[in-house]
Amino acid sequence: MSEYKIENHTYDVVVVGAGGAGLRATFGMAVKGLSTACITKVFPTRSHTVAAQGGMSAALGNMGPDKWQWHMYDTVKGSDWLGDQDAIEYMCREAIPAVIELEHQGVPFSRTEEGRIYQRPFGGMTTNYGEGIAQRTCAAADRTGHAILHTLYQQSLRHNAEFYIEHFATDLIMDDQGVCRGVLAWDLATGVLRIFRAQTVVLATGGYGRAYFSATSAHTCTGDGNGMVTRAGLPLQDMEFTQFHPTGIYGSGCLITEGVRGEGGYLTNSLGERFMERYAPNAKDLASRDVVSRSMTIEINEGRGVGPKKDHIHIHLEHLGAEVIHERLPGIAESAKIFAGVDVTKEPIPVLPTVHYNMGGIPTNYHGEVVTLKDGNPDSVIPGLMAIGECACVSVHGANRLGSNSLLDIVVFGRAAANRCAETLKAGASQPDLPKAGVDKVLERFKRIHHANGSTTTAEIRDNMQHTMQKHAAVFRTGDSLQEGVDKMNAIYASYQDVKVSDRGLIWNSDLMETFELANLLDCAQVSVQCALNRKESRGAHAREDFPDRDDANWMKHSLAWLDEQGQVNIDYRPVHTYTLTDDVEYIPPKKRTY
Ligand SMILES: Cc1cc2nc3c(=O)[nH]c(=O)nc-3n(C[C@H](O)[C@H](O)[C@H](O)COP(=O)(O)OP(=O)(O)OC[C@H]3O[C@@H](n4cnc5c(N)ncnc54)[C@H](O)[C@@H]3O)c2cc1C
Repeated sequence: MSEYKIENHTYDVVVVGAGGAGLRATFGMAVKGLSTACITKVFPTRSHTVAAQGGMSAALGNMGPDKWQWHMYDTVKGSDWLGDQDAIEYMCREAIPAVIELEHQGVPFSRTEEGRIYQRPFGGMTTNYGEGIAQRTCAAADRTGHAILHTLYQQSLRHNAEFYIEHFATDLIMDDQGVCRGVLAWDLATGVLRIFRAQTVVLATGGYGRAYFSATSAHTCTGDGNGMVTRAGLPLQDMEFTQFHPTGIYGSGCLITEGVRGEGGYLTNSLGERFMERYAPNAKDLASRDVVSRSMTIEINEGRGVGPKKDHIHIHLEHLGAEVIHERLPGIAESAKIFAGVDVTKEPIPVLPTVHYNMGGIPTNYHGEVVTLKDGNPDSVIPGLMAIGECACVSVHGANRLGSNSLLDIVVFGRAAANRCAETLKAGASQPDLPKAGVDKVLERFKRIHHANGSTTTAEIRDNMQHTMQKHAAVFRTGDSLQEGVDKMNAIYASYQDVKVSDRGLIWNSDLMETFELANLLDCAQVSVQCALNRKESRGAHAREDFPDRDDANWMKHSLAWLDEQGQVNIDYRPVHTYTLTDDVEYIPPKKRTY
């Protein structure tokens, strides 16, 4: 390995990722006196958390009656009874102190007249077990994620956490007992490879929206932590559950808010027909997100999509007139201009149902510890490894996430991981040498990809994957279409063996970095499409046209999927935790679907 300059580092804890989850954990660990490094491929405040606008849920009751038990009920129901109820209880209960802490740390929340944290209503958030509408979502105007991320970064610096910024983590270093002992990262600016040794590695690498052609998430959301976990021989959980939003801008995926249709905007197909009138004669373009996404998908699949590839839909605002648009939808007019080159007063915006959130990920318990099914124990903890945030599957969102529960998830479980490490680790404890075989394995993989000299470019393989996922692991699914998706993905997965990296440098080599990211996206895509074919029911965001009902008798269980080096997926299951942590939960939600 003389080709590479290698440096070694030792910390009590290494956190990979500096989004909301990673920063909350980093800062929490540093406060507890553990030596902590945070590795991040982008500058911390550019993580995707910065894009979250709506807010963060917590039953503070500032704007009307509220209780964490009601929040818990909504979350269990929203998860379509696939969420683990012990973890959901923990999240909804801890939401309250977690938000107050954020306020004290400096998040500039919007205020009520009395000076309390302002809370807005959000979909699925109710009072008294579904009776009324709760105002539960704490907001800092329309830039809550931005405010949280900046505050947590400042707090991390204040408490002397060490940052390795613009460093790309490639692989976990495991020993032969299955213990995680460290991680390898590539310093993008200098080309140095850094081998980190730690008592605990915390993955906080975010979602994998970019496995799809159209996603609202940043281009950096490439499922890197998920890929590292599969290569360490560990499973991913519930990867068939992907949340879609009906109107992302075609190509960029940038979100077009539902407010556009609220103001009178409407959708058309290639015949110029307002097709929503056929699918939802009453609500039309204002039908629920699922219905609109489904209808758009049917139009495209039946050949009535617009554009040269007939693969998207138009949304019109022209008829509203320039005055109304500039008064009520100025942000949308600007986004459409920048991301689609469209003047909304004259032409429609090209849109597509767009991936918005990944419910599945690395299975953990509510402390953030990674778990697996081993020797019959479905909650067997992997020593030395934690996962938090969108890359993890705790599982608090089950089959579908409620809006504003993700900012909550990242803060609560980032905090939980820090609390757990403070309990279980000794600051500065001596660590054994890293296992040579484990280190060699990850360095060899780095070298193999660095010198990849096949005939297919990274962009070609990525394009194939993104279009296949968009078409076959889509909003509404059938066995035939999923089977076609599995066959295509098998071929695309295999084509990575023939990938070509053109640039052999090690300094700011975006070609090489994208090739590493592509490997991780392929792992996520491969597991997602196969789990989707495997789950023969409809639950939450996983809607099978050939199995339209939820089937609790056979499918109220988490999918666990292991991926081998040839791309073979092996699926097993973990039971859903239907028990709660305490007796304070006064209401056991009904299991039957009531909506
Ligand atoms: C447009 C948009 C709006 C949203 N609005 C809301 C909302 O209003 N309310 C809500 O609750 N949720 C919302 N969500 C969801 C929520 O924002 C995300 O789920 C959440 O912010 C994810 O946080 P995270 O810390 O897990 O990951 P991210 O914020 O995605 O951070 C990932 C981090 O990992 C690092 N990383 C990744 N791979 C590597 C690697 N290989 N090496 C080193 N570092 C790596 C990155 O540099 C980054 O720092 C929204 C999402 C989107 C896309």
